[in-house]
Amino acid sequence: MISDAVIARVAAREAERFRAANPRAFAHHAAATGWFQSVPFHWMADWPSPVPIVAAAAKDATLTSIDGQRYDDFCLGDTASLFGHSPPALAAALAKQADEGLSYMLPTERAAALSGTLAAMFGLPQWQVTTTASEANRAVIRWCRGISGRRRILTFNGAYHGAVDDAFVDLKDGDAAMRASLIGQVHDLRGTTTVIEFNDEEALAGALRGGDIACVLAEPVMTNVGMVLDAPGFLSTLRALCDETGTLLVFDETHTISSGYGGHGVVHGPKPDLLVVGKSIGGGVPCAVYGFSAAVADRMAALNRSRPAGHSGIGTTLSANALAITAMDTMLDEVITPAAYATMLRGAARLVAGLEQEIAAADLDWHVTSVGARVEFLTCPVPPRNGSEAKAAMHPGLEAAIHLFLANRGILLAPFHNMMLVSPVTGDDQIDRLVGGFADCTKALKE
Ligand code: PMP
Repeated sequence: MISDAVIARVAAREAERFRAANPRAFAHHAAATGWFQSVPFHWMADWPSPVPIVAAAAKDATLTSIDGQRYDDFCLGDTASLFGHSPPALAAALAKQADEGLSYMLPTERAAALSGTLAAMFGLPQWQVTTTASEANRAVIRWCRGISGRRRILTFNGAYHGAVDDAFVDLKDGDAAMRASLIGQVHDLRGTTTVIEFNDEEALAGALRGGDIACVLAEPVMTNVGMVLDAPGFLSTLRALCDETGTLLVFDETHTISSGYGGHGVVHGPKPDLLVVGKSIGGGVPCAVYGFSAAVADRMAALNRSRPAGHSGIGTTLSANALAITAMDTMLDEVITPAAYATMLRGAARLVAGLEQEIAAADLDWHVTSVGARVEFLTCPVPPRNGSEAKAAMHPGLEAAIHLFLANRGILLAPFHNMMLVSPVTGDDQIDRLVGGFADCTKALKE
């Protein structure tokens, strides 16, 4: 057990160290008054450092700052750059596309090839493009409601699916409650969202057998409340109950694409009716896709035939622009390959083993979880089985101190999680430095 006093002491010492090493970041933020909270996007103020690091450039799995610091990047844009920063093939394709126009609201020849690649990789025949994973999830929810005629969706307690209002319902003391942190939400989302604990087969059966759920929107393994792995048999029960009750199963594989080539559903099963992937699929270019079965496509086409012409409420003008198509086509052809996954999984195994060894050496009751190339340390002894357990196990103050300690030693972790992403271009030396920094941090926390 690490006391709050020790955590506060380490955090204060590391804040001072950060201040001394990053004068330009402080000057930058003092001058950036035109941005709300001095950042162009408010999440950027959420890093544990006194001010955010100001990025200068990033290549492969290394990021440099305007203060001349070099970071082994295990955040990788919180998955957007899971396959490395600026892969050469992507950089070249984007430069070429930049010369040929970026957004015409017309398909390009590349788009035809891309749909085939998506189908082969993820095992679903039909696809649509959006600009973000949030938007893809919103589109999918609309389609599922539209084709099923059912109003409710079901999500799991503690889930995150992006800026998707319907998914911001949690369990609080066993009852559904809107996520307290939401800004400006005026609808009672509980009227159309059912929330249960992940891995709770009984609650799932009860909810789905009511016959009023359009779709289950789920990560096959939860990754946004810390990682919560599926209990043996849970996902096949989920699939079976969806089939039994005519409920559509949506896998949001935006993070679990780390599982292996084709994502979690392809590697471990079961197969969803609809699938969403965003962030990394464009290598950092804003784009996302959703795929669906032939049966779902038929129902979508029938719905389209039955509605009057006009706004569908799905999609935005920039969706599937030429830049996005080129980015995804290049990434899937040349970067997101089975060979890349082999390297990522090997690196992740090295990281897991290193962290486990250091946790044991420091005699801490922590543990390490991984979903393919996504690795996480949790500062609790037993892997949580659901969102409530995961939330109870969180220690934001301790996590922030660890993150800042590591940042001061040139190691970058995503601010919202203890997740570490291993890309195909992450070197063993980088992994070993992370393990070494983690070991030093546990020593500092035990002093
Ligand atoms: N789905 C999942 C599982 C996510 O983790 C996230 C973002 N962390 C999103 C969707 C939304 O992605 P974006 O913010 O790029 O829209």
